[in-house]
Order: sequence, then C-alpha cells, then structure tokens
Amino acid sequence: MKLSDNAVKVLEKRYLEKDENGNLLEDCDGMFRRVAKAIASADAAYTDEKGLAAIEQEFYDMMANLEFLPNSPTLMNAGRPLGQLSACFVLPVEDTMEGIFESIKNAALIHKSGGGTGFSFSRLRAKGSAVNSTGGVASGPISFMKVFNAATEAVKQGGTRRGANMGILRIDHPDIMEFISCKSDNSEITNFNLSVGITEDFMKAVEHNLEYELLDPKTKEPVAKLNAKEVFDIIVEMAWKNGEPGIIFLDRLNRDNVTPKLGEIESTNPCGEQPLLPYEACNLGSINLYNMMDDSHKGLDFEKLENTVRKAVRFLDNVIEVNKYPLPEIDKMTRGTRKIGLGVMGWADTLCALGLAYNSQAAIDLADKVMSFISDIAMKASQNLAELKGVFPFYEDSIYDQKGIKVRNATTTTIAPTGTLSLIAGVSSGIEPIFAISYIRNVMDNSELVEVNPVFKGAALSGNFYSEELMKKIARVGTVKNMNEVPVQVQEIFVTAHDVLPEWHVKMQAAFQRHTDNAVSKTVNLSHDATTDDVREVFTLAYKTQCKGVTIYRDGSRDLQVLNIGKVK
Ligand code: UDP
Repeated sequence: MKLSDNAVKVLEKRYLEKDENGNLLEDCDGMFRRVAKAIASADAAYTDEKGLAAIEQEFYDMMANLEFLPNSPTLMNAGRPLGQLSACFVLPVEDTMEGIFESIKNAALIHKSGGGTGFSFSRLRAKGSAVNSTGGVASGPISFMKVFNAATEAVKQGGTRRGANMGILRIDHPDIMEFISCKSDNSEITNFNLSVGITEDFMKAVEHNLEYELLDPKTKEPVAKLNAKEVFDIIVEMAWKNGEPGIIFLDRLNRDNVTPKLGEIESTNPCGEQPLLPYEACNLGSINLYNMMDDSHKGLDFEKLENTVRKAVRFLDNVIEVNKYPLPEIDKMTRGTRKIGLGVMGWADTLCALGLAYNSQAAIDLADKVMSFISDIAMKASQNLAELKGVFPFYEDSIYDQKGIKVRNATTTTIAPTGTLSLIAGVSSGIEPIFAISYIRNVMDNSELVEVNPVFKGAALSGNFYSEELMKKIARVGTVKNMNEVPVQVQEIFVTAHDVLPEWHVKMQAAFQRHTDNAVSKTVNLSHDATTDDVREVFTLAYKTQCKGVTIYRDGSRDLQVLNIGKVK
C-alpha cells in the first residue's frame, strides 16, 4: 500500500468503518477488501467460486495499487448496511407544492447517503403568477431554491460529506434575471452551484444581437422579450465577479441523450460532469493515469490501460447491481439505463512526468489519443458485458437499438472532479492543471512543513536543484515561471492552473469532451486582473469547441468578496 499520510487521515476520518464509539473497525487495506468483495459479489451468478475470488482479487489490486478508484460513496458504503454507492443524482421539481417538498425530502435522503443532487427549477411558475388553490401569488423558483438550500444545510450528510446541489434555470424562464444574480454576494444559496441552461436559439440571438422570448413554463407562450447579448453580458459580469453562475448547453446535453424516448435532460449533478434524466443516478470511477505510464516514464502503457479500463467497466457495472438506491423511482430508472461514468485523474502529473506542458498542442493531442482509447475500450467492454449479462433494460428506447449495437450501459464515460479520490491517490485532480507546485503547511508546534508535488520533487532531485529553501520560495510565489533557480525547460513543463492561459484550459476540456459520453468537470482559472472580456471569450470558446458547459473562477474573487463584507461591518 502506497497511501500518503494525508490520504490515510482522510480515509480514517470519513471512509473507514467505525463502531458507535468512533473506534476504527477496519484499516485502509480492509476498506479496499470490503469494497472489492461487495462489488465482485454481483458476478456470483456468472461464475464459480474460484472465478469470483479472482474477480474480487482483480478489483482489490486495482484499488490498492491506486490504478482505479470508484467514487467516494462506493468506498464509504459498499458492503455496509447503507449500501448507497452513487455520487450523482438528478431529481425532478414539479410545479406543485407537493412536488417541490417531495423533491426536498428526496434530496435529504440522497445527501444523507453521500450523493449530490441536481435540479432544474425551470418547470416552476414565475414569481408573481397566480396560485389557483389559494388565490395568492407564486413566489418563484429562486425563493424555493432557498428552501432546498436550508434543508441541505440542516442535513449535512450525517457526517460523511456536505450536501452538494446543482440548480439550473433555463435562459427563457421569466425569472432568469433574478436567477443570474441571486448569488452575487455569495452568502446566499451556499449549498448550490448554479448554471444557466443555455439554448442554441439563445446563442444565435447573442451572435446576431437579437431579442429572444421568455416563455411561460407551463403554456410555453411568450410573456416577455429580452436582448440576448445584454443577458449574456450580465451572466459574464456575474461569473467574473465570483464564478457564479456557470453555463450549460442544454441542447447539447439532449443531442447526446441516448434514450430520448424516456424524457429530456434538464440538469446535471452538482459539479456538472453528469447530465441525467429525472430520477436517474450514476456511479463514477476514475483511472489514475499517473500509474498507467510505462516503467521508463516515456509514455503510457496502453496494454495496462486497456486492462484497467476493462476491469473498471465491469466494476462500475457491478456497482449498479449491488447498489441500494434511496427511492424506488431512482432504482427503476438507474437499473433501467445502467449509466456508468469512467474517467481519469492525475492527468497533469502524467503530462509533467512525460515532459509535456499542459498548455501545449502536444498535450492536447495526447489527451485526444488517451481519451479516445479509453472511450473505445470502455464501449467494447460494455458490449462484451452485454453478451454475457444482457443489454440495459431500457435498450429498446435507446439509439443503440436503432443502430443495432448491443451495450450493457447507456453511457460509459464521464470526467469527474475527483476532489477526494485524487487526494487518496496522491495525484493531481481530474484533468486540471497542477494547482500548486509546493505549499507550506503549519504543523502543531508552529513549525512550517513544505509539501512538494512529488513529480516536481523528482525532477528537482534528478536535476540537482532541490533545496528546502527553494521549495518554500516556490510556495510563496506560487509558480516557477521566471524563477532563475529552476531550469527553463522545467519552468515550461511545470505550469500551474494560473500559469495556463484560459484558452488552454478550454482546449483541454474540449479535447476530453470529444471522447466522453457524459460531460467533463473543469474549472477555467483566470488571473485576478482578468477582465469581463476574458470571461466572455472563455464562454464563447467553450461554445465553439463543443464543450457541454463551462465554469470559471477568477483568482481571489470570492476572497475579495469576504473582505468587502468585513469592511462594511
Ligand atoms: N459530491 C457531493 N458532495 C461532495 C463532493 C462530491 O455530493 O462534497 C458529488 C457530486 O455529484 C460531484 C461528484 O460527487 O459532482 C463527484 O465529485 P468528486 O469526483 O470530487 O468526488 P470524489 O469521489 O473524489 O469524492
């Protein structure tokens, strides 16, 4: 086992099984054993005892060697009474009092089990519209989002993790302007990420500086008109101010909806990587690319990668089988489409180890190559599983039926943020650039400990320029750019999120999206002095390069907000 001290700490605090007094009942190795056994058990019907033991061992090895990890709820809950293993859910919000509060209750149940929820509030009638049963007026989607937020705050996921939500409103909803600026001071709706649901019609209207119509959510009759470019500019302005809202391209999510007969995709999970139908859930898992390199670290070991993808697809498909879903509706939908989301982590560390700068065409080309390979193999693996175990139950409602391709899973690939998984594996998260090359951690006795990115440390030691003093200096400055002590070639390779120009962030996102069934979690980092024009360019580039959505964050924008509030007080 190669887990870092930090990884062990996180696992002990939140993932390992404990008794009622908080004493650990398993260690990290025991957790991987528990998970492997529970997930392999889905194969009992297809193999004998010996075969089952072999599958269990394969699953265990893949996790213990940090080659593949399933999303946090699987690590936490597999083989335990709760048994809820998915990270991503989407719930419908109907335009009735019963529907709204049913959805709040269901979200609470999901949060308790470690899952995140996404909602579209687009079906709710606009603020000020009539309420037939009472003769009063409706308070509108934003007021109800505050109720969802308060419920999330209260649940706090029973100590496993904080509830996370995605809130989406269509660009043509009458309350869209209130939605766009409802988090402008960041003290409201804190348990939500917000995204505006953008349509192709809207983007065309922006391009041609035209008006577009706001529609009554129920009748779809036009109720007002707005200038598209002005609305787009306000979204840009708000995102510039504090990173919210993001945008998602609804028509693209539905263009790739493989089961259109089952309904429309209105929302994604909290971090945006998983578009889902109402009541659908998805379990994710990520391959650690850093551990997929060949022994000499000159390139990727594609044979190892292929084997890992095949095992990971089997693993994730088994998760659906043994999963205990929190609601019967979710059980039906999720077992019906059998969506899984296999992705990657450690991408930036891998690039550095291979000597490629994140912001280079060579890195983009490799992204295309690696992800198209993963996607091809994942698809083949799902087809093989279909031969053995059957196609997904709602197959006849899918595009695969029309194409005559028999698959076990309606989708197979998703790029997750891997917030905790990457910490457990000790690599850079998802497909993000390295965040810091080194940083200083204060330890108990007030001394400072400098933590260094292991790939950089290796390069510094072998290049003979490592010193504790230099690592501290790098931590203070935040980049090795223009740092004389570091060879120029190393400066060029070890770029951090803030060294990478926004357009490269988007290009990388687009490269992975080209070969991903679902979506890609990515934050485009901008420097503090970036302008609203820079944000507009990022949004436009994401649109032009076929991304499914985009989230930006301008360095220090939220901190500044907190400072401002402090000053007013
Ligand atoms: N998620 C959540 N709460 C959290 C973190 C994540 O509900 O505190 C959900 C959410 O749907 C998110 C997904 O888990 O989009 C995947 O997040 P990530 O990859 O960071 O999770 P990990 O498996 O690394 O913990």
